[in-house]
Amino acid sequence: MDLERALGLIAEVPDFPEPGVLFRDLSPLFADAAGFRAVVDALGDTVDPGTDLLAAVEARGFLLAAAVGYARGLGVVLVRKPGKLPSVAGRVDYALEYGTAALELPSGVVTSGQRAVVVDDVLATGGTVAAACELLEKAGATVSGVSVVMELSALDGRSALTGRTVSSLLKV
Ligand code: AMP
Repeated sequence: MDLERALGLIAEVPDFPEPGVLFRDLSPLFADAAGFRAVVDALGDTVDPGTDLLAAVEARGFLLAAAVGYARGLGVVLVRKPGKLPSVAGRVDYALEYGTAALELPSGVVTSGQRAVVVDDVLATGGTVAAACELLEKAGATVSGVSVVMELSALDGRSALTGRTVSSLLKV
């Protein structure tokens, strides 16, 4: 399947999880074998050959990073919501459009000097990916890129990621 058709499988759900939010649901894309492969291949192409590790943002980033990591021969570190990890290397709290959230990195997984690429499904305000980048850098890694399937341009997530290499397969 070509990439454009694959990306067309992403559904739009109005007013979820809150009124006024147009939720981009990748479930139909993930469930379509050819579509999933096309997107994973394209996302894999955005990952620089010098990359050592993929950092997957919970939860849909896990699915994407696992597939890209397998295809590209790279390991994956899970960037998790609080309370999931038995041993935590670091935590970053950040602002959401409404309220706050936090992400944690497992201890003993990221090695100083590693070049990591952050993988997630949707870049919205950029707060989530920026927090993931901060966590990785605190652990001594270098963030060499950010790869997402979809970027919501109106929310200007790139302004939270100034100086970073951001790749998105689709800008809406
Ligand atoms: P942000 O921190 O604002 O860039 O939000 C990004 C995170 O929230 C990602 O992990 C996305 O999965 C999720 N997200 C934010 N907005 C949307 C949306 N409109 N549709 C789907 N997921 C979203």
